[in-house]
Amino acid sequence: MTSMLESYAAVAGEDVIRHLQQLTRPLRGKTMVHVNSTRVGGGVAEILEKMVPLARELGIDARWEVITGDSEFYQCTKSLHNAIQGNQIGIPETQLNHFREVNEQNANQLRPILEEADFVFIHDPQPAALLQYCKERKGKWIWRCHIDASHPYRRPWRFVEQFVRGYDASIFSLPQFVQPMPHPSYIISPSIDPLSDKNIDLPQEELDSVRGHFGIDPDAPMIVQVSRFDRFKDPVGVIEAYKMAKCYIPNLQMVLAGGSATDDPEGEAVLNEVRFAAGDDPDIKILLLPPDAHRTINALQRLADIVLQKSTKEGFGLTVTEALWKGKPVIGGDTGGIRLQVINFHTGFLVNTPEGASLRIRYLLNQRQKMEEMGIKGKAFVRENFLLTRQLREHLTLMVALQH
Ligand code: UDP
Repeated sequence: MTSMLESYAAVAGEDVIRHLQQLTRPLRGKTMVHVNSTRVGGGVAEILEKMVPLARELGIDARWEVITGDSEFYQCTKSLHNAIQGNQIGIPETQLNHFREVNEQNANQLRPILEEADFVFIHDPQPAALLQYCKERKGKWIWRCHIDASHPYRRPWRFVEQFVRGYDASIFSLPQFVQPMPHPSYIISPSIDPLSDKNIDLPQEELDSVRGHFGIDPDAPMIVQVSRFDRFKDPVGVIEAYKMAKCYIPNLQMVLAGGSATDDPEGEAVLNEVRFAAGDDPDIKILLLPPDAHRTINALQRLADIVLQKSTKEGFGLTVTEALWKGKPVIGGDTGGIRLQVINFHTGFLVNTPEGASLRIRYLLNQRQKMEEMGIKGKAFVRENFLLTRQLREHLTLMVALQH
């Protein structure tokens, strides 16, 4: 066994790796190309950075290509992205033509690789039109849609759809994100990388240092929510829940950690609402962290007694996966992908109101044994369902199925 596989075997289990090796047997030597639009930043790049080398170690000739474009192209793809998620945005014809041109230019560069590949995974709308310009393709093409395409704005969607309808399959993250296609659609849920800075085990000294840095009392219970300052994440509801619980647990502490909101006017407004709701309570810490503060977030999740994700609307909710992986019970909003992860009374509690969240906070902090049991179950649940190795396994299964 080689080193990367060994490292994953240590966290995901030997049997998981053996299963991957078995699945790969009929695919050994096949070429697989992933194409997206950025090498760094964002969840897709994070996953590909690990999944592609892992596939190579398993014996698949895997590679990762990134398309390039100018700012007009990215303006167009941002509008397409928002329109697919339902925003009523009109996109000028000139921009749509430019989208085609950029895809054609990239196809001219990548054609020898893409036309020869046995499997091509195209991520999101940006490179979707490549297929149009690879007429001599030999392999199977799969469109991997990472966003909620269930209620798109029709005109821009029809533009994207004309490209993706020629694919052999589509993958969506959740059943409720699916847009009907003329080819088979598969559901493959997102995953976390257990070996990334966000999720790897941390030494006690590092936890102590983060605790000291933010002035967290080691002897008092703490609840944490990590989220962008976005109304759908309901940070004000979290503060209300905390305040209700604090009447009964006077030394309760809370951390709300999110990114700096200076470049997002709505984030700034939400942050002001959060600050107003928090008032001058010294036990509430509102942390604005830089985008690469992965180890700090990891530490805060590990320092928490309970993690909250009280969203009123949510895609998948990676923060929930991250918390469960750290053995924390999660009190989560009864919505979206949180429902797939928080199994009520087993890995945490699903709630609909601040009152409900407060009740569960009090219940858990008075039942340490229960908290521990939930933490163990939560971690096992993530190991089974939401690690990178599971996502790779599902890709391999799909490839084997498409081969025939
Ligand atoms: N995150 C982060 N810094 C922040 C807030 C969030 O790194 O200030 C991370 C968080 O750990 C998770 C991701 O961003 O990995 C958020 O994913 P999720 O699915 O929970 O929510 P989204 O922001 O995509 O709606």
